[in-house]
Amino acid sequence: RSKEAGKGCHTSFLPEMMEDNKRKLAIASAILPGLQNDEFQVYYQPKVNVNGEVVGYEALIRWIESKLGFVSPAEFIPIAEATGRVVFITEWVIKKVFDDLSSLIEIHGPHLKVSINLSATDIKRIELLNYIERNYQMYGVDPKNTEFEVTESSYLENFEEADKFLQELSKIGASIALDDFGTGYSSLGYLTKIPIDTLKIDKQFIDELEVDERSTLITTTIIQLAKQLNLTICAEGVETEKQKDYLFNKECDQLQGYYFSKPTPLKDIQKLRRGDADTVNIKQKA
Ligand code: C2E
Ligand code: MG
Ligand code: MG
Ligand code: MG
Repeated sequence: RSKEAGKGCHTSFLPEMMEDNKRKLAIASAILPGLQNDEFQVYYQPKVNVNGEVVGYEALIRWIESKLGFVSPAEFIPIAEATGRVVFITEWVIKKVFDDLSSLIEIHGPHLKVSINLSATDIKRIELLNYIERNYQMYGVDPKNTEFEVTESSYLENFEEADKFLQELSKIGASIALDDFGTGYSSLGYLTKIPIDTLKIDKQFIDELEVDERSTLITTTIIQLAKQLNLTICAEGVETEKQKDYLFNKECDQLQGYYFSKPTPLKDIQKLRRGDADTVNIKQKA
């Protein structure tokens, strides 16, 4: 459009930018009130092993804002990061997950791990480490039942601080997963030096399994690499039976994706467990 509009392009471009900034500002300023007004929820998406057992859940935040309606974490987490508000979200998620954990363990057994996503600023804050430890105590949570997901870019951006944080968290007994693996600019050398337990292969590779030769090769190579490094390997965004069969054949440890379940509120996981099959269909939850 800008080419056709010539000089006029600025007049049509600017208002769009302003609209975008307005929305960002609206989102940024709605985060703290939203936390106070109970607008956020945590949904849980299962991670399934080759025997079909749920071995873990990933906690994924949901927000229905009073004026904006549903706002995706893919949109508001980066805004929360940029405006220093993400720490409040993270602390809220930690408490919520620790509070829900015993109910999930009751359903799936003592080996269950529930994962919490941490952002780049979180893993620079040593105080967050103290916060996590205090809340393990307060909620009677065993760190062994918890995992923290960080992306390789947030790890490498602030390597010294992030590494200190994650070494400490790992020492306490929590697991660390490297999220969206394969999408950053990783040098593989650091994989042997950082305290990670799990690699999560990004959905972009899973989407192209058996469609794109190189994505297929990258996926199988990451699985083998993880095995050799003694890491658990989890594939994200599994949507089809074909993908599931392919990945389990290649001995991927855990799969996660809409094929098994969308992220689901705890109460629906509990209903499903009780067998109220007609009141809830786990696959239809947003
Ligand atoms: P992520 O951690 O990589 O989470 C995976 C995303 O993929 C989630 O989106 C999940 O709902 C979605 N997903 C899972 N399986 C499938 C599938 O089969 N197909 C498709 N199309 N999507 C699938 P969601 O919940 O919208 O979260 C987006 C991102 O926002 C997350 O990416 C994570 O980076 C961030 N996020 C979500 N919750 C939190 C949180 O509590 N704290 C922080 N710091 N970040 C969060
Ligand atoms: Mg994640
Ligand atoms: Mg991910
Ligand atoms: Mg992802």
